Amino acid sequence: MNSKRFDKETFKEAVKDNVKTLYRKKIEEASQQQIFQAVSYAVKEQIIDDWLATQEAYYQKKEAKMVYYMSMEFLMGRALGNNLINLTAYTEVKEALDEMGLDLNAIEDQEPDPALGNGGLGRLAACFLDSLATLNYPAYGCGIRYRYGMFKQRIKDGYQVEAPDNWLKEGYPFELRRPEYAKEVRFGGSVRFEKDPETGRDKFVQEGYESVRAVPYDMPIVGYGNHVVNTLRIWDAEAITDFQLDSFDRGDYHKAVEQENLAKNIVEVLYPNDNHYAGKELRLKQQYFFISASLQALLAKFKREHGNDLSKLPDKVVIQMNDTHPTIAVPELMHLLIDEEYLSWEDAWEITSKTCAYTNHTIMAEALEKWPIDLFSKLLPRIYQIIQEIDRRFVEKVRAKYPGNDEKLKKMAILWDGQVRMANMAIISGFSVNGVAQLHTEILKNQELKDFYEMMPEKFNNKTNGITQRRFLAHGNPLLADWITARIGDGWITDLSQIARLKPLVNDEQARREFMQIKHKNKIRLAKYIKEHNGIEVDPHSIFDVQVKRLHEYKRQLLNILHVMYLYNQIKEHPEMSFYPRTFIFGAKAAAGYQRAKETIKLINSVAEVINNDRSINGKIKVVFIEDYRVSNAEMIFAAADVSEQISTASKEASGTGNMKFMLNGAPTLGTMDGANVEIVEEVGMDNAFIFGMRSEEVIRYENHGGYNPIDIYFSDWELKRVIDQLMDGTYAHGDHNMYKNLYNSLLNTQCTPRADMYFILKDFRPYAEAQKRVEEAYRDEHRWSRMAMMNTACCGKFTSDRTIEEYVRDIWKLHKVEVTVEEE
Ligand SMILES: *Cc1c(COP(=O)(O)O)cnc(C)c1O
Repeated sequence: MNSKRFDKETFKEAVKDNVKTLYRKKIEEASQQQIFQAVSYAVKEQIIDDWLATQEAYYQKKEAKMVYYMSMEFLMGRALGNNLINLTAYTEVKEALDEMGLDLNAIEDQEPDPALGNGGLGRLAACFLDSLATLNYPAYGCGIRYRYGMFKQRIKDGYQVEAPDNWLKEGYPFELRRPEYAKEVRFGGSVRFEKDPETGRDKFVQEGYESVRAVPYDMPIVGYGNHVVNTLRIWDAEAITDFQLDSFDRGDYHKAVEQENLAKNIVEVLYPNDNHYAGKELRLKQQYFFISASLQALLAKFKREHGNDLSKLPDKVVIQMNDTHPTIAVPELMHLLIDEEYLSWEDAWEITSKTCAYTNHTIMAEALEKWPIDLFSKLLPRIYQIIQEIDRRFVEKVRAKYPGNDEKLKKMAILWDGQVRMANMAIISGFSVNGVAQLHTEILKNQELKDFYEMMPEKFNNKTNGITQRRFLAHGNPLLADWITARIGDGWITDLSQIARLKPLVNDEQARREFMQIKHKNKIRLAKYIKEHNGIEVDPHSIFDVQVKRLHEYKRQLLNILHVMYLYNQIKEHPEMSFYPRTFIFGAKAAAGYQRAKETIKLINSVAEVINNDRSINGKIKVVFIEDYRVSNAEMIFAAADVSEQISTASKEASGTGNMKFMLNGAPTLGTMDGANVEIVEEVGMDNAFIFGMRSEEVIRYENHGGYNPIDIYFSDWELKRVIDQLMDGTYAHGDHNMYKNLYNSLLNTQCTPRADMYFILKDFRPYAEAQKRVEEAYRDEHRWSRMAMMNTACCGKFTSDRTIEEYVRDIWKLHKVEVTVEEE
């Protein structure tokens, strides 16, 4: 659509025609939603030619190897604006719509956020798809078309209330149903073994199963200015036979209803847990459903294009498994190769183990998937048999290497203690295991996965996460994007290392002033959003101190709000004390069943209510909880942030990617030496970040020795003690003494949690408060702060997902770039 192919007048006509054919209306009569649909279809029309051309180019270039990125989550965010950015047509379309009296921003706001993911892991998958397309790499994303994505969060009386996210209600213009590629997926029943009378081979036949029809919907993934359009393929479930009311006996009727229900249930809703495993049967069904469908489609496509010699599969296809959720791909691929393609175990294993690669996203025990064997073997009898055989062969190897060492099996076997351990299966079966930041990968190698690392060191590698600057700068912060382009050209959009050219400008006072003026304008934009959504007035001249991410104990939103309570006490006690005005901004969804997380949200809102309404402090502190944190408002929040709160307990946050989005938008990190924060500091320098608290080795040392005792700190720091006591004295609960009892107990009561203060909040409190003092001091010095802010933007080149993808390609996927050329009319 860049240059000649895009024509403003044609586009305007297309929008008008779409309103007419879709709604039988004139443009003046159409609703905003109808206009959004009409505009989106006009954009999709432009995308389709490139989409066809891309698939044709991949087909022609038969050596083109393809990555299949398998993920239970794709947190895409809105497509319209992002597609226009990547088509390099945003400005022209905005102008065209302007001329029609339409506002592109208002139209964009009509799009529901496709929120088919929880948080960082799902957003990473979305950033990777953007980078793959932009870097000309053949790729499919494979996932589930949940009818309901991440719930909508409402705050009522300070409490989180979940509402369903019916994102498909109005119809989603950027998806394409592909019934011609539907596949059958089977559950349950039993496996019968027979000898094939002709070949004499073992044959495994699944009987008495239930099945559903998996129907793919494709979404275009537009590369930036290169005519590449890749595909995100998400699977819907339908009943295998639309049951016909005229021809059934009683048995068929029940079976038909059951299959109808199974189909409806499987893709009904995304599990809203982040970094937490619940062990629900339906979740395992979801996993097998989309993996089986994706692999069947993958093999069919391979055979169409490359013929029946499946030994070539690893040369043409690589499967990346995003966490343990899709690792059932290993036994499913074995099953398809052995039972459907009649390969021997050895041949199937050779292919599978060269095709599958696994990304580890966490070391936290509660997040590791371990399925009860009885549940697993009932739902997937044949898959379970295959896992038993993989395990049997592996155990034999371990016994040979470490005779008589049962500790090794206890750690590494797949089947243990009545459970199927998915991470172990992925590590044993794949050819690559990667962590997502340097520190995380080191902890995997030296602690959590030490035994595996010693046995198969060649599999382990690091791929530090990244984010796409197309969404989180070009689209989310247009003022800064245009300013950077005016200063250093637009090369940064596809080569973020060029952003380092801003470094010399850090010493240019005029440049710094302009940079901070843009930050100020973005703060005004966010203040307006807060006024509209929360009814709270915030001062854009105050420090915007932001913590937005999923609510989790390890991320320590509690540490942040306890510190706000502490500051408030101080200001009340010493009204004369000098204090730079601060706006503490939070945004976070809690998993629906996570009590402590929900209590923390209530606490933040209650503290906000008390502080925001206390006239006596002259608005020195404001606390804002932004409802329904999601990709679309995230883009605006990052652009407006002064301070990036990244305060997880060291060793717990595998990487973090929010930290990178803040950095890109010129907000220094206030954080621990955890995840990718370590690498951020490496790039930007200690002077341009605010680092505090325990290091990961220290945390791990305590954990290996049964924790620590927070009571000593509680009794030796009276200001901290007072804050913690305020959880129980009704200060923030209209006199209710029980409202925050769970939080209080989590910090102090050794009876209540596995350990008191598992996340070292008391231990890190003073270091955090001191780091916050340093933030204030730095902010008061305008020159110093503008330098720091700009340095963060200038030094974030490493954290583009383009860099991450090039590393995956070089070390794991071995893909080749494919050029797509399109005839210009
Ligand atoms: C980037 C992002 C996340 C991940 O944030 P972390 O701070 O790394 O946990 C979660 N949700 C949304 C909407 C995001 O854009």
